[in-house]
Amino acid sequence: MVKYGVSTQTTIADSVRLVGIGVHSGDRVAVTLHPSDANTGIVFLRTELPGRDVEIAANWKSVSATDLCTVVGDPSRATIATIEHLMAALRGLGVDNVLIEIDGAEVPVMDGSSRAFVEAIDQVGIVELSARRRMIKVLKPIRIENAHGWAELRPFDGSRFDVTIDFASPLIARQSMTLDLTPKSFRTEIAGARTFGFVKDLEKLLPMGLCRGSSLENSVAIRDDRVLNPEGLRFANEFVRHKMLDAIGDLALSGNPIMGLYRSYKGGHKMNFEALKALLSDRSAWTMVEMPVRRESPAAEIGAGMAAPVYGPETY
Ligand SMILES: [Zn+2]
Repeated sequence: MVKYGVSTQTTIADSVRLVGIGVHSGDRVAVTLHPSDANTGIVFLRTELPGRDVEIAANWKSVSATDLCTVVGDPSRATIATIEHLMAALRGLGVDNVLIEIDGAEVPVMDGSSRAFVEAIDQVGIVELSARRRMIKVLKPIRIENAHGWAELRPFDGSRFDVTIDFASPLIARQSMTLDLTPKSFRTEIAGARTFGFVKDLEKLLPMGLCRGSSLENSVAIRDDRVLNPEGLRFANEFVRHKMLDAIGDLALSGNPIMGLYRSYKGGHKMNFEALKALLSDRSAWTMVEMPVRRESPAAEIGAGMAAPVYGPETY
């Protein structure tokens, strides 16, 4: 069975470093991804805190805020904000285990998409480990709602995302997209979609110390139903693609890839997290399945959320 891709866990082949600024703090941050052992998952390590390094697992249990971005860690000790675009790149490309050293409290925003993280991973490549990969299989539908929208996880034979957004702004309006997550679909359809915001909201957030690093270099800015970025949009529906990217990154906090269908209507970080939490808190709603050993086949297909058996970099 090759439908879900490689049957063993993966890590990156070598360490790789990126430097950028935090979109909220405006601070310069360096991030280094290191290979790590099977069954360790994605772990952040804050390295600049006086006297000690602090390790934070990128796991739904360590989420401490989901307001404008997804934050992990204990606020009284150390947190890391805006992890979702990096998490999306790792899940999208099928990287199970990596240690992420970071010398600040926020993952750099880079160009506002996952592209720089995908390029960094491609620079070093992905390797298979000997341990079998395990997936969280959704057994029954879970649904959460708020005043504006809803999100659900349903049993499905694959890793599918179905995201709809609906904005009052006629520039965005209603956009829907369905994606079967594979490294190829992530690279071509999702990785390059940038975060976006309305200038009127930015004017409110700046005095609160948020979005201080935000610029046309790292987000699509909208004023009076116009895109201010001189280069325009990367995709006609870049907005829903970015919401899909965020959902992939937030659901990667499950720790193991999810075999199921995720659907959201007017969702966001909070709803992505709440749906994941509702699923994983209900022990009857999911089960852990081990990937069967792959029969060697040079024509093996690349499957859901997993890396290909041969890990050469792909171009966009
Ligand atoms: Zn985002």
